[in-house]
Parts: sequence; C-alpha cells; structure tokens
Amino acid sequence: DSGGVYDFVIVGGGTAGLVIANRLSENSYTSVAVIEAGDLVFDNKNVTDVYGYGLSFGTDIDWQYESAPQAYAGNKTQTLRAGKALGGTSTINGMAYLRAQKAQINAWEHLGNVGWNWESLLPFYKRSERFQIPTEDQCLNGAAYDIEVHGTTGPLKTGWNTGLLGKSVTSLINATYTSLGLPYRAESNGGDMRGFTRYPATVDRELNVREDAGRAYYLPIQNRTNLDLYTNSFVQRITWDETSTNSTPRADGVQFTDSAGKRRTISAKKEVILSAGALRSPLILELSGIGNPAILEQHGIDVKVDLPFVGENLQDQTTGAGVYSSNTSFSGTADYVGHFSVGDIFGNDTYDLNCTVRDSLLQYAATVVEASGGILDQKVMEKLFMIHYDLIFKDQIPISEILVSPGENQMAFSYWGLLPFSRGNVHIQSNNSTTPAAINPNYFQLDYDLKQQIGTAKAVRKLAGSEALCDVVTEELSPGLQSVPLNASNETWAQAIKDGYRSNYHYIATAAMMAQDLGGVVDTDLLVYGVDNVRVIDASVIPFQVCGHLTATVYAIAEKAADAIKSRYY
Ligand code: FAD
Repeated sequence: DSGGVYDFVIVGGGTAGLVIANRLSENSYTSVAVIEAGDLVFDNKNVTDVYGYGLSFGTDIDWQYESAPQAYAGNKTQTLRAGKALGGTSTINGMAYLRAQKAQINAWEHLGNVGWNWESLLPFYKRSERFQIPTEDQCLNGAAYDIEVHGTTGPLKTGWNTGLLGKSVTSLINATYTSLGLPYRAESNGGDMRGFTRYPATVDRELNVREDAGRAYYLPIQNRTNLDLYTNSFVQRITWDETSTNSTPRADGVQFTDSAGKRRTISAKKEVILSAGALRSPLILELSGIGNPAILEQHGIDVKVDLPFVGENLQDQTTGAGVYSSNTSFSGTADYVGHFSVGDIFGNDTYDLNCTVRDSLLQYAATVVEASGGILDQKVMEKLFMIHYDLIFKDQIPISEILVSPGENQMAFSYWGLLPFSRGNVHIQSNNSTTPAAINPNYFQLDYDLKQQIGTAKAVRKLAGSEALCDVVTEELSPGLQSVPLNASNETWAQAIKDGYRSNYHYIATAAMMAQDLGGVVDTDLLVYGVDNVRVIDASVIPFQVCGHLTATVYAIAEKAADAIKSRYY
C-alpha cells in the first residue's frame, strides 16, 4: 500500500498522461499515481464503435466546455469538446493518425527548443506505434505505407479497420483531388503531408474497436502494483513543500476530490505532472499560484511563480462543411483526406495573398498583443508570426485539410485551416476549481484565417463540381446556392463561414514549450519555469499547430518527455 505517497503523481489519465504512467511504472521501484476525473470506458459502445464518431458528444464523457462569445465571429459561443474518461480525448476523437510536416516540427527548435525537431521526434512517434500492416485487400483499396517511418512494436495500434471502402470510391476521390492539381501521397506520416491519402487510424483491427490511450497504454499494464489509478477523481491544485529550502518552489503533492466526493491530498516525492489537457492544465497551474500575478491576485491566490504566459497563446482551428446529396450510397470507413498548400488553394492569387499577409504581420502582432491585455510582446509576436508566415509561404506546408466522407446518398466534405494566426487564452474565473474557465480562442481574429477558410470552402465547391464527381453528386445541401450563390462575393462566403463553423478541437500552446522570453511556460524537458519539479505534458506544450491531427504528436511528445524524466532520476 502506497499510503498515499508516490514518486510521481500524474494529473489526468488522458492521451499523454497514460504514456507517462506506463513508461515511469516500467521500473518496479518507482511508484506512480494517476488521478483521472472520468471513468473507465472500455465497455462504452460510444467509444469503442469504430464507426461511432460523435456518439459520445454531449454525453457524460464529454467535458463540453463553452467558449466565450467569439467577438470576430458574430459573438456566438462554441462548444469545445474534450474527453472525460480514462484515455482522455483519445476516447472521443476522430481516430485519425496523422503526424505533422517536418518543417513545422523543425520550427520548434527556432523557438529556443534545442533538441526538438523532426529527426529527434521521429523515433518517439515510432516508439509509441504498433502499425498493423494493411491486408492485401486493404492495399487494393488504397491503404499504402512506407514501413521505414512506422513503429511496429509500440503500444499504440494504428492502421485501417476492416470496413475500408472499396477501390472504386478511392479512385473516384483520387481523380477529384487530382482535378485540383493535388498529387497522391501514399505515406502521409513521413513528414511530408501535401497530397491526397487514405490515412491510418488509431484502431485495433483484430477486435475492430477504437484504439485509445487507455487500451494502448493502460490496459496491458493495469496489474502493475507500483501503479495506482484514481478514477472519478478531480484535482484542484498542486500542494507545495513549505519546508523546502530550495530557491525555487517544490511541489509535494496534489489536492483532489475522490470518487466518494471526499477532499484528499496525496504526496509526490519526486514530481507532479500535469496532463489534464490544453484547456485544463493551465488552470491547475493558476489555481496553484503559477501564472499572471494580476489574474491570480484578482482571485485571491498567492503568487508562487510569476509566469504571465500561463493560459496565453491558445490556438485552435475552425471547421467548415460542404454537404452534397448523391445518387449513390456508400458504406464503410471513409478515411480520405487531402492536405493542400497555399498554392493549391489560391493558385494565381497566392502572390497577392502572400504580399497582403506579409504586410499585415506587424498589425497581426499588434492585434494579438492588444487582445492579450499587453501580456504578449509586440517584438516577440512579430518574430513568432514571421516563422509562421515562412511555414505557409516559403516552406509551403499544408494550410488546409479537406476530409471526404461518402455516406448514405451523400458526399460530405469537412475542411479546416491548419495554421491560423489567431491567438486567444484560457484563464480561471474564480479560485474555485469547479467554476468554468474563461476560454477565448478568438476565432477569425486575423484576416488570413478567414481568407484561408474562404479559399478552402471554394475549393470544396470545385471538388464537388469536378468532372470525376459529376455523375455522383447531385445537389449542394450546405452551404447551398441559396445562401452562397455560385458567384458569391467573399463577404457572402465570410458570413456563411462564420455562421456555420465549429471548433476543430485542436487546442494547443496554453503552456507552450518555448524560451521564456518568447512566452514559454515550460522548458525543453517540459518542466515549468521557476518550479523545481512540476511538468506539463500534454497538448498544452505544443507551441505551433501541426498539419496532422494532435494525438500522434501528443503520444510522441509524451514518449520523449518520459525519457527526460527517467534521465533525471535514473
Ligand atoms: P486529454 O487526452 O484530453 O487528457 C486530459 C485528461 O485529463 C482527460 O482524461 C481529463 O478527463 C483529465 N482531467 C482534466 N481535468 C482534470 C482534473 N482537474 N483532475 C483530474 N483529471 C482531469 N486528434 C487526432 O489525432 N485525431 C483525430 O481524429 C482527432 N479528432 C478529434 C475529435 C474531437 C471531437 C476532439 C475533441 C479532439 C480530436 N483530436 C483528434 C484531438 C486530440 O484527440 C487531442 O488533442 C488529444 O487527445 C489531447 O491529448 P491531451 O493528453 O492533451 O489531453
């Protein structure tokens, strides 16, 4: 019995948290506790069903946070989904397994993150992965891969499920994308993403169930006696070692409410690791006295560490949809995706957009600085935005993702901007940990973000109207020619996009890994600046968006961080 004393206490048994729990408890002399607000969901059909995307939305395993009214998008609020279960958001997500573009991971190194680049992260992507080689049948239907970039012995099963749609649809959709000049890309997880692909998922092909962090990283090791899991337990704050003579504050545990509703504390002899997700970990820092003093003092919280960027730099993406009726019904898994560069989307207009954005960078920085209440710095934001601009216009990394879902008498396209400039924040609104936070992603704050969505919406219409699809697609249901006529102005498109968008649920950077003078909250070992033994290990630390989806990169980051922790102690 641990007696409530552990070497490591992990807050949040989600995507990243369970990687850390698994890796640290490999050493049987190391004791680890995971405290998770949600429950086990191994038998929850809304989780396991590989065709069940969305079934869990609005149920008790969805935090369904509410954003602040979005000032640049008609003042409406947005529902921000996140998983509340062992496995975290990996239990409710779309299961896409897509990493990132090389150049954008390399850009992390330009933010003061020595040792973080594509080459150094690739082994950790591989270490986490157990790639299930597609069957012959799946290959005939478009599943393709380069085994060099995949791991085959890690915990996380990736690949294609048994219900892969047939070859005829694959060729049809490929021809559609080709009509816009987008090449076919057989392997999209090797660091070059531009192109059309049939992407792999996090799936257990044998059992035909979702592969989530719980299944991959917890289930196989649940009997380790040095690992304790507290479910239905909600962490309020870190507790501090008041006897420490260290010059920097030292955490000695956390305070939480257990499954019986009782307020408790448990002790961490070595470290407290926050893995509560990008919309939670920064709040726990604030409630523990780490953050912007002005915010902490407003809520009567003693300042342990003056770290003004906690909760700042929030970046998310926005999703739109083009929905078409079809004279054909398709059933099975629809994992077709295209990743488009700025040139693919804007063609001859790319040069003009390039000039407009370059000329706007100072203004973008000023807008973001003002919206942050002066917390962010003009010169720093100019530097960050220049890196961001280079990724879009010089490196020409994908800026838009268009996902096709052929369904029952329907062909639906979802699309989102991969690299919005807009930045928002998330902060506590009270010193009571159950009070909802103020979450403001500032969608469409900067005009590039809207222009990119308009360009992509138009590209979707072109795809649907392409020769390849003309025998299949019958009518545009959404946005519809009534509200957005064929010759619609950009203003009309903008209105339709702002009326119809949703969050893409890819929240990052609220405790960003960057040099402190650039607005960072954690260092390259993901240790919180100014604290001896607290790390943040989850999507909060990702400094810039990735062109893939987040879990692949979250798993890899957590694998790398686990090594950093081990090397400190062993
Ligand atoms: P999480 O996995 O969210 O883990 C945080 C954990 O902490 C949760 O279990 C939570 O319950 C727990 N927690 C929070 N607060 C407390 C507290 N105070 N005390 C105790 N526990 C707490 N990514 C992809 O790669 N592919 C996709 O197809 C995809 N689709 C998505 C679809 C949706 C609807 C959503 C919401 C996200 C999607 N994503 C996708 C994004 C991706 O799943 C997440 O970014 C990623 O899982 C986040 O991992 P994390 O470790 O940062 O946080």
